[in-house]
Formats: sequence, structure tokens, C-alpha cells
Amino acid sequence: MHWDNVCTWDGKARIPKEGSFIKLKEDKSLEVPNNPIIPYIEGDGIGPEITPAMIHVVNTAVEKAYGNSRKIYWVELLAGDKAEEKTGNRMPEETLEVLKEAIVSIKGPLGTPVGKGGKSLNAILRQSMDFYSAIRPVYWLGQPAPIPNPERVNVAVFRENSDDVYMSIEYMPKAENTKKVREFFLKEMGVSEYALPEDCGITVKPMSEYKTKRHVRKALRWALENGKRVVAVVGKGNIMKATEGAFMNWAFEVAKEPEFEGRVITEGEPKEGQVLMVRVITDQMLMQLVLKPEAYDVIITQNLNGDYISDLASALVGGPGFVPSGNIGDGYALFESTHGTAYDIAGKGVANPLSITLSGAMMLEYIGWKEAAELIYRGVKKAIEERLGTPDIANGFRKMGIEAKELSTMDFAKAIGERLS
Ligand code: NAD
Repeated sequence: MHWDNVCTWDGKARIPKEGSFIKLKEDKSLEVPNNPIIPYIEGDGIGPEITPAMIHVVNTAVEKAYGNSRKIYWVELLAGDKAEEKTGNRMPEETLEVLKEAIVSIKGPLGTPVGKGGKSLNAILRQSMDFYSAIRPVYWLGQPAPIPNPERVNVAVFRENSDDVYMSIEYMPKAENTKKVREFFLKEMGVSEYALPEDCGITVKPMSEYKTKRHVRKALRWALENGKRVVAVVGKGNIMKATEGAFMNWAFEVAKEPEFEGRVITEGEPKEGQVLMVRVITDQMLMQLVLKPEAYDVIITQNLNGDYISDLASALVGGPGFVPSGNIGDGYALFESTHGTAYDIAGKGVANPLSITLSGAMMLEYIGWKEAAELIYRGVKKAIEERLGTPDIANGFRKMGIEAKELSTMDFAKAIGERLS
């Protein structure tokens, strides 16, 4: 990378003297200097290709929007494969310490082995920093998409991030501790052998009122600030009454809190400055998203449902490669690409950098640098309008009978950078 404001990891995180840390005020709002230090984690697989591409676009946008008066100072932190190779630890303590100090940061994808190994690094990050809401705004920027009129999709999925089966309270089939848990249910709680056979594994699904309500408040504030109309609270409350059912009820309690009085309604037509909150069962929502995506502006849901719903919503606009995301707590925020490590295409220079680049734009909005974020949205739209893109985008257009020019990951980022106006 030719940028002089990027401090790569070199035996330790190198904090630039020219930069200053963002500060968290007492009310949890941010005090952002003109030279903020923003950590980045490159990520595994295609991470080393898409992350520099994002940095290029964000730097170009900041320079274009503010000239010399504002500049980000990027600090590389290690996690995942690179951290293991350099330090023998997939999540070094230093990474968590600097992320906390810097308040706002961004990352590429991190690999998680299925059915074995330690806890997901993403879960460690989300939980250690208490990023309790994951926000995934799904909108269409002109890319090839599998549904007719994809411009109908403009929905922000608010996924609760600190509860649910992701707490990793798991008892593997036939393990000693599983026998103990099973016996407790059979003997003490009157659960049947049919429900808990001897060879079963058990995953615990906790859901708390406190965690749900803070998440719902965040989503409602966002919906009101952004002039949204219809907010759906989604869950399988009819089956999991103690968890997803409770979540849905708590959400409606939040709507009655003084802060939202008169602004969040639960029936009728929302007027300007109001949102309508409705209850939708998960399977219904999955169907509606495909058939009538324009019906909802915001979806508030739990951790596991949020995972499914946001992937489906992303698929409607062409896949997770096009959708940004942010993990947000009380002020603290970590933005990230929504797709995985794509090991199958890593190192080939063909990865689509849009998810992390749009996450970079979302991060700029979050720190209040809206002009630079706007430039990125417009630049991406223009590049796609001109039928430029990585092979996945170009192939998508060709399938529709439209000519397109195939670019490498970095060349696509450069093409976007040239179209920021
Ligand atoms: P994946 O997203 O890595 O790949 C699915 C398919 O999409 C692959 O064919 C891949 O080539 C393609 N793809 C993904 N991103 C792309 C991009 N930017 N450009 C072009 N093509 C792209 O999903 P997976 O294979 O299920 O997961 C691989 C690993 O990533 C797993 O270890 C998983 O745990 C991890 N993962 C991490 C995150 C995260 O860090 N937030 C999210 C999802 C998955």
C-alpha cells in the first residue's frame, strides 16, 4: 500500500504519533478528533486482499471530502491465521487492548472451524467488547441480483449480538458433563427420555430482558433518526416462548417507554416522525422478504434468527459480498465484512471488496464523517453503473446478457476511488 497513514504490525501494534484516539464521552457519544487512530484487522483468506482495497477507498474519500484537514491513522492489529503464525495465539491480548482504547475499528473475515476447536474469534470480539447489536443495512447499488426490481430491498437488520445460542453453553453428545445436565432434566425437571435421548447433545439458549431491551432501544432510535416507517420484531415466539417469545414481548414494552411515547406506534398508519412496530414470526418473515421485501424498513431480531435473516436479505441484492455491517455497543463499534474468508478464492486477486468497503463507509458515518461516506456510496454506484467489477460482478452481468469489465480486487477499488464525486 502506498499510503503513509497505515501502520502495519511489526512485532507489536505501532500506534502513530500523528494520530489521536477517539474518546467516549460520559453519555457514550463520541468525541472524534480530525486525526483518529482506527485499528484494522486484515482477516483470513481473502482478508489481505479486500482490507487494503477498503483502506484505499476510505483514504481517497476522506482526502477528497476534507483535503488535509482530516486524516485517519490506521493501525494493524492481529487476529486469526496471521496472529497464529506471528504470535502463536489466534487472538492476542494486545489486539483486544488496542481495540478497546481506540473505540471504533474495522475488520475482515476470520475463519472458524466447524464442530471442533475453540470459540469463534468473532464471538470473542463481539462479547469481550460487548458489541450488543449487529446492524446490517441491506440495499441495492445496481449490481446483478437474483430478484426482479431489487431496488425494493432497503431494510436494516438489527441482530442482537450478546445473547442466544452464541453464548457457547454447549454439552457435546455422550460427554460426561452432558450426562449430568441430562440427568438433572430427567430427574429434577420431569423432562422425558423422548425429548432428551441418551445420545443427544445440548445447546443452551439464554435470552435476557436487559440485553433485549438495550438492543431494541438502539434499533428504534436508529429507525426514528433515519426516518423509517415500519419496524418488524421477528422471532419464533410461538415455539420458544421463554426466549424468542419473551424477546418479542420485551420489544413491545420498550415501545411504551417515555422516550418512544407517541413516536413508536403499534397499530395504524405511521405519520411523519413515527414508526409502526409489528410482530412477525420468523418463517413468515423469511417468506415475506422474498415475496414483498418493500414491506419492512427495519427488522429487530435475536442473534441466531438475525444470522439467517440478514443472509437471506443480503442474497436478495446479490449476496453478502455487497452488504456492510457494524457491531455496536455503548459507543464502541467494530465494522466488518459480512461474508466469510472465501479460502477457495484467496490469493487470486478476484475477491469482491464491496462488503468491507461499504462497512468502511458505514464507519465514516458512525464517526460523523458523512460527506466522505456519501462519496463512497456514489463512487460504488457509478463503478457498477459503468459495468466495472470483480469477476463475481462481471459474471453476474454477463449472465444477464450485459457486457462488463472484469477487474482485480485492488483495480476495482482504484476504479471506485476515481469515481468519488
Ligand atoms: P464464505 O463467505 O467464506 O464463502 C462462501 C462462498 O462465497 C465461497 O464460494 C466464496 O468464494 C464466496 N465469497 C465469499 N466472499 C466473497 C467475496 N468477497 N468475493 C467473492 N466471492 C466471495 O463462507 P464459508 O465458506 O461458509 O465460510 C468460510 C469461513 O469464514 C468459515 O471459517 C466461517 O466461519 C468464516 N466466516 C467468518 C465471518 C466473519 O468473520 N464475520 C462470517 C462468515 C463466515
